[in-house]
Amino acid sequence: MKAVYLTGHGGNEVVTIGERPMPERQPGEVLVRLHAATLNRVDLYMRDSGAGITHMLPQVMGIDGAGVVEAVDEGHGLRVGDQVLLYPGVTCGHCEFCVRGQEVLCTHMKLLGEHRDGTLAQYTSVPARNAVPMPQGWSFEEAAALGVNHLTAWRMLMTQARLQPWETVLIFGIGGGVSLAGLQLAKAMGAQVIVTSRDAAKCERALALGADAAICSATHDVVKEVMRLTHKRGVDVVFENVGAAVWDSALRSAVRGGRIVTCGATSGDQPGADLRRVFIRQLQIHGSTLGNLAELRDLVGFCAQHNLRPVMDQVFAMDQAHAALDRLASGQQFGKVAVRL
Ligand SMILES: [Zn+2]
Repeated sequence: MKAVYLTGHGGNEVVTIGERPMPERQPGEVLVRLHAATLNRVDLYMRDSGAGITHMLPQVMGIDGAGVVEAVDEGHGLRVGDQVLLYPGVTCGHCEFCVRGQEVLCTHMKLLGEHRDGTLAQYTSVPARNAVPMPQGWSFEEAAALGVNHLTAWRMLMTQARLQPWETVLIFGIGGGVSLAGLQLAKAMGAQVIVTSRDAAKCERALALGADAAICSATHDVVKEVMRLTHKRGVDVVFENVGAAVWDSALRSAVRGGRIVTCGATSGDQPGADLRRVFIRQLQIHGSTLGNLAELRDLVGFCAQHNLRPVMDQVFAMDQAHAALDRLASGQQFGKVAVRL
C-alpha cells in the first residue's frame, strides 16, 4: 500500500512517500481503507525530533483519519462499507484508567503515528472500538479532523472547564485547529467567545465564523481589551494552547474563581507563574490532552446535530505530503490541512 512514512528525524528529507506492507488485521480489529487524514502539530514533532516518544522506524505518519470499513469480525456493531473516523489511541483496556472509562489516561496508550503506524496510508488496522461511524454527508477530510483537534477542544470545554452557555471564554491564537474547534464548539454550546491572534486577517475570519470579539494582539494589549469587553470582570474560561508567550495574560484575563484550561505550549512550556494570583483569586488550572472514546462519540453526535463541520484550510494529495507539512509548519493555515489518501 502507499503511505507517507518516516525513515529518520529532521525535516522533509526523512519523509518518504512510497510502498509499505499492508497491515495484517488481528482478531477484534477493523481493517479500514483510509480516504483522508489531517495534519497535527505532533506530525511535525515526529518528523523533526520524536524525542521521548517510543517508536520504531520506518513508521507511517498521521494521527487522525477517516475511511471505509474493509473487514471486521461480527459483533462489533460495524459492517463492511461503513464510513468511520478513528479514535487515535490504542489502549490496553485493563489498567485502572481504562477500567474507569478514562482510557485517555491509559498507561499503555499507543497513539497512531506516534507509537505505531499512523493514518497517512491507504490502510490501517485498529481495534474495532477505535472506529466510530462518521456523521452522514460529511467529507472524509471533515470527519478525520474530529478525531484529534475537536476531541481535544471538546474535552477542554465540556469535561475540564465545564463551560456554561451564559459564560464567556477567551481563546488564544485563533487559526490553529484546536483553537478553531474551541471557537466552533463554544459558540454551539451558547457561550460568548473572545479570540486573539497576532494576525488581523485571522481575527476577521474568526469574527465571520461567529466569534463575538477578536483582539489583534500585534496592535492591542489583550488583558486591557478583555477587561474592556467584560466590564472589568474578566472571562470565566481561558482556553489556551500557546504556552509561555501568553500565560501571564491568561492568568490576568480570568475572572475570580475562573478556569484556565491548557492543552499545549508551542511558544514554550516554562512560563513564569504568579502563584499569588492563582491562590488569592482562586483560579483553577486544568491540563488536558485528547479525550476519551465516549467523549469522541458524544462529540460526533453533537457535531452532527449542530451540523458543525471543522474549518478546512487546504486539501493535498498524498504525493504532496511535503507541501502539506510545510503548510502546517508555516503557521499560515486557517483550519485543518488535510491529505487525501
Ligand atoms: Zn489502559
